[in-house]
Amino acid sequence: MNTSKKSIQIQKTYEALFALEDVREIFRQSLPSGFNEAEQEQFDGAIARVKGILTDLEAGSGKPACTRVGKLEARTREEEFINIHPIQAAGRLTPEARKALISYGDGYSTCDNCRKPFRLDKISKPPVEEFHQDLARFLNMDQARVVPGARRGFQAVAQSLLEEGDHVVVSSLAHYTEFLAVEVAGGVVREAALNDENVVTAEAVAEKIEASLKESGRLPRLIMIDHFDYQFANEHDVVGIGRVAREYDIPFLYNGAYTVGIKPVDGKQIGADFIVGSGHKSMASAAPSGVLATTDEWAPKIFRTTEMVGDLTGRKFGIKEVENMGCTLMGGTLLTMIASFPRVRERTENWDEEVRKSNYFLEQFLRVSGSRVLSEWPRKHTLTKVDTTNSFDVVARTHKRRGFFFSDELKARGIAGEFAGATRTWKLNTYGLTWEQIKYAADSILEIAEKYGLGIN
Ligand SMILES: *Cc1c(COP(=O)(O)O)cnc(C)c1O
Repeated sequence: MNTSKKSIQIQKTYEALFALEDVREIFRQSLPSGFNEAEQEQFDGAIARVKGILTDLEAGSGKPACTRVGKLEARTREEEFINIHPIQAAGRLTPEARKALISYGDGYSTCDNCRKPFRLDKISKPPVEEFHQDLARFLNMDQARVVPGARRGFQAVAQSLLEEGDHVVVSSLAHYTEFLAVEVAGGVVREAALNDENVVTAEAVAEKIEASLKESGRLPRLIMIDHFDYQFANEHDVVGIGRVAREYDIPFLYNGAYTVGIKPVDGKQIGADFIVGSGHKSMASAAPSGVLATTDEWAPKIFRTTEMVGDLTGRKFGIKEVENMGCTLMGGTLLTMIASFPRVRERTENWDEEVRKSNYFLEQFLRVSGSRVLSEWPRKHTLTKVDTTNSFDVVARTHKRRGFFFSDELKARGIAGEFAGATRTWKLNTYGLTWEQIKYAADSILEIAEKYGLGIN
């Protein structure tokens, strides 16, 4: 298939999907008893359009019509390119999630059958309650809630636990959202140091706990550590840190933004009091989505219910959970999580293969002389920070497009997602690519190197 044919077919696929949405709209505007004459005419016209588009789609011919929706262009990055974007790879929707999204896109679409006691995680149709139980089991924790992003999970825990000025031990590679969650709760971060390999060890966390105790006269109120950090995706000793947390009797939040949904995570084995995951980063779900899981011990505190009483009306809202503002993901976001879940659960079993693909790709990448991997080596993750200062950046220094020459070359080969213009240090993520795509992407890198006369080992 040549690229321009593929391109027009992608375009036609969107046209067909959009034309079907126009058909759908006629149903929404008509009476339960059926179409009137004008609607029937509209319907016939719309169906004829769909058929015409399908003919073009099959042949890969025809002029592309406008697939702009107002000011929005149809996004075709995942269809047209191999996307190695560091944060997008594992949040790409499954086909099941995309179907759920068009079906449940309406506002409060989870609420059709919401019955007493009126809380999202108690809804049985669609199976939201069951999904919550599945999530807890998936992480080997006792209870789980969906949250609008991992950050909101950190926030719920921080706001439940911290009092003004309390210390929270985080990693020196902690994500900015961990800083913000501590800040909004009135706490203060204290960063555990990295060792020479850019890894946070249990000893480093213990040392920081001692330092914090000395400084403030009290133990830190919480330890919050990323299993794999967002900068290098190095693996940090979460099991050892869990042990230290228990020794000091400090609750431990395991940040699984880069693990939950791609790699098996066992909360009990880690000894975590809280597990937080990101739906849109690692669970093939629409944003904003995520999960917060905890133990039966902590659930009453984290998932505490409202006690507020209206002073005039005496109204109370019983079982609404304060930190979750009652209900969290009431529509398409949650349904994408639910729709993707069977596949997500299954794919975590293939993690070793994903890591093998990542290492294969980088071995090829390292054949370009001067290129380096800044993350720990060999890779234990599919996200990697690389340094091409002494390879592709050498070309960029004299190229009229500067660093953009590299993105131009990748784009011409159907590869997207590297930070455009960056040829020194940048990140890539191979998660979910097939072996065929991995080999194609690796060959493309070598081909570009060769074209610009860089040495290949
Ligand atoms: C992406 C990321 C987050 C934020 O996740 P959201 O779901 O977008 O809130 C937090 N921590 C780490 C380590 C991350 O990589």
